[in-house]
Amino acid sequence: MDFSCIEDCSKCCIEREYYPTKKFGKVGVLILPDEKKKIELLAEKNGIKVTILPRIGISEKSDGPDTILAYQMMGKDPNGNTCPFLDMKSSKRSPHGGYTCKIYDSRPLACRTYPVIESTPLTLDSKCKFCEICNTPTGNVDSELESLIQIKDKMKTDAPYIWRYATGMGELQDKDLIENGWFLV
Ligand code: SF4
Ligand code: SF4
Repeated sequence: MDFSCIEDCSKCCIEREYYPTKKFGKVGVLILPDEKKKIELLAEKNGIKVTILPRIGISEKSDGPDTILAYQMMGKDPNGNTCPFLDMKSSKRSPHGGYTCKIYDSRPLACRTYPVIESTPLTLDSKCKFCEICNTPTGNVDSELESLIQIKDKMKTDAPYIWRYATGMGELQDKDLIENGWFLV
């Protein structure tokens, strides 16, 4: 069965997950360093406030990251959900009936990749609604795979130390578990 979005679904633009554990808080949309400025300008142009935090850092020494490999655009809700570019106010809908993205033609590579999370073997994110009916599509994921390859290429590193940023965002009931700042992984 070919991949296609489920009717009326906007789940991947709304729900954010704790990754890799609650300690790291909810993650945002992955933003590569060369995408950050563009996203900030698009936000300004659309009158939207965006919060872009670091996501992955690297270093030669163990005393803290010296280069940011990836950033993340946080959800606008206090619990870390809902992409600030998702248009939930207008009556406009995407071809499959979901809410529209205000920057669809310029959306980040990570959004172009979803729901594909691995190429060999082809793996979709189990949280994508399409996975409720099919885990491994037979086709229609070529552009998603291409975007995934681009992300992997740009994030390749031989650095001896890799750091992950804890966002401090999540559900109120989890606040004692969620941390904020860099951790060596
Ligand atoms: S990619 Fe998956 S979760 Fe996102 S809108 Fe399509 S079906 Fe829904
Ligand atoms: S930038 Fe657009 S496609 Fe990406 S998560 Fe936000 S609303 Fe969805």
